[in-house]
Amino acid sequence: MVRIAIIGGGIGGLTTAIALRKIGFEPEVYEQAPALLDVGAAIALWPNAMRVLEYLGLTQQVLEKAGVMNNVRWLDQHGRLINKVSITETSERNAQTAVALHRADLQEILRHALPPGSVHLGSSLVEYKQGDGTVTAHFTNGHIIEVDFLIGADGIHSDVRAKLLDDSPPIYRGYMVWRGISPVTLSAIPPNTAVELHGSGKRFGIGPVGLGRTGWWAAANGANISPKAEERNADRKTWRQGESIASNLPHDTQRDLLRSFDGWYRPALQLIESTPSESILRTGAFDRRGTKVWGQGHVTLLGDAIHPMTPNFGQGGCMAIEDALILSRCFHALGAHESALRHYEQLRYQRTASVTRYSRMYGTVGQLENVFARGIRRALLSLVPESVARRMMQIVFNYNACEVAIKN
Ligand SMILES: Cc1cc2nc3c(=O)[nH]c(=O)nc-3n(C[C@H](O)[C@H](O)[C@H](O)COP(=O)(O)OP(=O)(O)OC[C@H]3O[C@@H](n4cnc5c(N)ncnc54)[C@H](O)[C@@H]3O)c2cc1C
Repeated sequence: MVRIAIIGGGIGGLTTAIALRKIGFEPEVYEQAPALLDVGAAIALWPNAMRVLEYLGLTQQVLEKAGVMNNVRWLDQHGRLINKVSITETSERNAQTAVALHRADLQEILRHALPPGSVHLGSSLVEYKQGDGTVTAHFTNGHIIEVDFLIGADGIHSDVRAKLLDDSPPIYRGYMVWRGISPVTLSAIPPNTAVELHGSGKRFGIGPVGLGRTGWWAAANGANISPKAEERNADRKTWRQGESIASNLPHDTQRDLLRSFDGWYRPALQLIESTPSESILRTGAFDRRGTKVWGQGHVTLLGDAIHPMTPNFGQGGCMAIEDALILSRCFHALGAHESALRHYEQLRYQRTASVTRYSRMYGTVGQLENVFARGIRRALLSLVPESVARRMMQIVFNYNACEVAIKN
């Protein structure tokens, strides 16, 4: 039996394990956290990711917990409509819903699709070494494994990447994002609709996350993080702590956000008010420039470990899900050889680099502060015909990882 270790039990790692099991492999997942954590945020799964989950037989479980999004609306900060688009796909063959759900629900669905003994919690990778066709990995708990392939799905601060590429840290794009899930549904928000409000250097997003809850996010320029200072510290671990601030927020987050978004569309404020401060997460918007080197020998990278992107399109997790399927299909078509990893990397580079770039650009425009620039943004956004907006979205949504041609 081919021995495959997946480092990281996030969305990418778990989906990769499920996809590999579907074709007869028995990968083991090693996750540093002692328990898969119930982080209080929503995740949107757009049609490109839902298509993969359908192939993996997980759609029903996701739909039971999720809110469906058929429409997107852009409003100004006072709630006046700028534009809207229906995102329901018309092509019957590839019809897929866009949804959003609690991350903990998604993680539980993925975890339950795997044999319990195949996910090793409390296993933090320290280092690995490649030998002659094998990889030896050491964990902080003293565990040592020897495997044939090692997949680094260990997120934006990937230790596997650090050893492979030894490159600079992710790049802070100048704004912070707060996320929460409110236990209420507001009648002012049309059902099955994702809403994005635009202000000066600030945005607010709203979407259904199923089971009567509403997910929201707020973005604001600058704010309380100084990545440059943290980068000066040079030590990766120090930088990592500086960014992983979600659980360390002071308990007046809610009040600060209400002050920051004072005068905005009332339903946005109601959502903040109905979300306890301690469940609100805060993260900086980071990404990286694309790199063509994703792996070496019997090691490869996947998800945020290789292509972290700003959250503007809600596509980071969806890309990890696409990666997972393409990697498993390469193993299936080319066998468990190094060439399968290299082909997977080639197939994924262009797609992930483009979506990362589009997401960054969208964020830059969304966070504009200058009054003239904002005027132009509003005018252009209001003038885009629905058909054109839908076509632009379909560049991202219509990708079908189940049908991408794999050479063999
Ligand atoms: C504000 C915000 C909103 C977002 N919204 C969306 C959205 O709506 N839709 C969407 O698709 N994406 C969204 N994303 C992006 C999405 O969260 C990520 O792209 C996705 O979680 C990446 O999955 P991953 O498995 O690659 O990494 P992660 O989810 O980060 O998982 C990595 C795992 O590896 C583990 N790990 C780390 N180091 C080690 C180690 N040394 N040993 C063992 N385990 C280790 C970690 O504990 C973690 O569990 C958003 C991101 C942000 C910041």
